[in-house]
Amino acid sequence: MTAKKKPDAATILNRGIKCRCPKCGKGKLFQSYLKPAPKCSNCGLKFDQWVGADGPSFFVMFLVIIVVPVAALVVEMRYAPEPWVHVVLWVPLTFILSLGLLPIFKGMFVALEYKNKTDFFSKK
Ligand SMILES: [Zn+2]
Repeated sequence: MTAKKKPDAATILNRGIKCRCPKCGKGKLFQSYLKPAPKCSNCGLKFDQWVGADGPSFFVMFLVIIVVPVAALVVEMRYAPEPWVHVVLWVPLTFILSLGLLPIFKGMFVALEYKNKTDFFSKK
């Protein structure tokens, strides 16, 4: 196998955030919401060896449990809305942030793994 130089870290991370193949940036990383595709449809890079486990979930959960309560506290202190307003605002926002950020963070983890593990994605 020829040793091709990997793109720079910013490019790889940007591709991960867009849920694209970290190597070529064209193939889709996921075949459904969070299920990784077996390999890149463009360059053939295998995604099935990825071992990110619960890392993306941890970071998304950590971010959401900080952002939502702080936002709720700020809204309460500034506007003092009725309690039902908090329920209507923060419950959907928690779900939207969690579900929306999860593929992005998972894509970032795959990209970082591709960047930092030199032999990981080249195994046959
Ligand atoms: Zn690719």
